[in-house]
Amino acid sequence: MRKNYRYNKSKDNNVKKARIIILFITIILLIIGGSSLITAKLSGNRQEVQALDDTKQSGDSNSNDKKDNNDSLNVESNSEVEDSSFIEKYLDQQMKGQKPDGADGKKVVYLTFDDGPSETVTPQILDILKSENVHATFFVVGKALDKDENTKNIVKRELSEGNSIGNHTYSHNYNYLYPNGKINLSNCMSDIEKTNESLKKVLGEDFSTRAIRFPGGHMTWKNKDSVGMDAMDKALHEKDYHQIDWNSLSQDAEGAPKNAEQLKQEVIKTTAGREKAIILMHDTYGKEETAKALPGIIEYLKQQGYEFKVIK
Ligand SMILES: [Zn+2]
Repeated sequence: MRKNYRYNKSKDNNVKKARIIILFITIILLIIGGSSLITAKLSGNRQEVQALDDTKQSGDSNSNDKKDNNDSLNVESNSEVEDSSFIEKYLDQQMKGQKPDGADGKKVVYLTFDDGPSETVTPQILDILKSENVHATFFVVGKALDKDENTKNIVKRELSEGNSIGNHTYSHNYNYLYPNGKINLSNCMSDIEKTNESLKKVLGEDFSTRAIRFPGGHMTWKNKDSVGMDAMDKALHEKDYHQIDWNSLSQDAEGAPKNAEQLKQEVIKTTAGREKAIILMHDTYGKEETAKALPGIIEYLKQQGYEFKVIK
């Protein structure tokens, strides 16, 4: 009996212990379950806040009537956009034989197209950029932009598809910009401003670009008139404008006319060893071979591991 009692007592104790353990496990499970529920709820809230912010942003954008400006804002917030002052300094240092400050081992290519828009070549180039999913910088001539509604719409398309727009003067007239082979500061400045005004009329008052490309190239006129060009640079910098030359080219406007394959070979030759390649090409009338060469050029640059960026 006593033995029996003891047995029962120890059995009771075991049951008690088991109950305590089960209770303990249940409490732990409840704590774990509860905290993960809270975490899930909190992160859910965070996502909602993020979504709200996104809605708010797109709502703000929608309230802006100028659709194209929104696209230019999109470009600005994009990491594929390079500051024009960075490119100006990089090319200047490279030209002087110095190691550019911006040399960081990352291969970046900047496709640039001068002298457009044209109704024949520019739309082809835009189609190719779109299908290759890369962007370019178009150095627009004001006179070509103002030609008619069609050319204005082409420049709108350039911007809305994520490309960047630079300023290539209004007249592109060497006699007016560089009389006797020397830079005329006031003529150049007013021609640049004239294109800026046209761009604003077409793309919206909020549009601005800081990237200037001199017809014939800054380096050409710097060689002929160093003092004049230094004064020009000072005037540009006061307005936060930066001149953009190039260090690679397809030769589609230099020397004898070339077919698409030859243009591609020039790009291969002139980008060799370039960590940052700023490639000069043209999208004006008669540059059909440039459009033909472009898919092959882009394919080559992708194979070489270049990242594509635009200049603003
Ligand atoms: Zn030009």
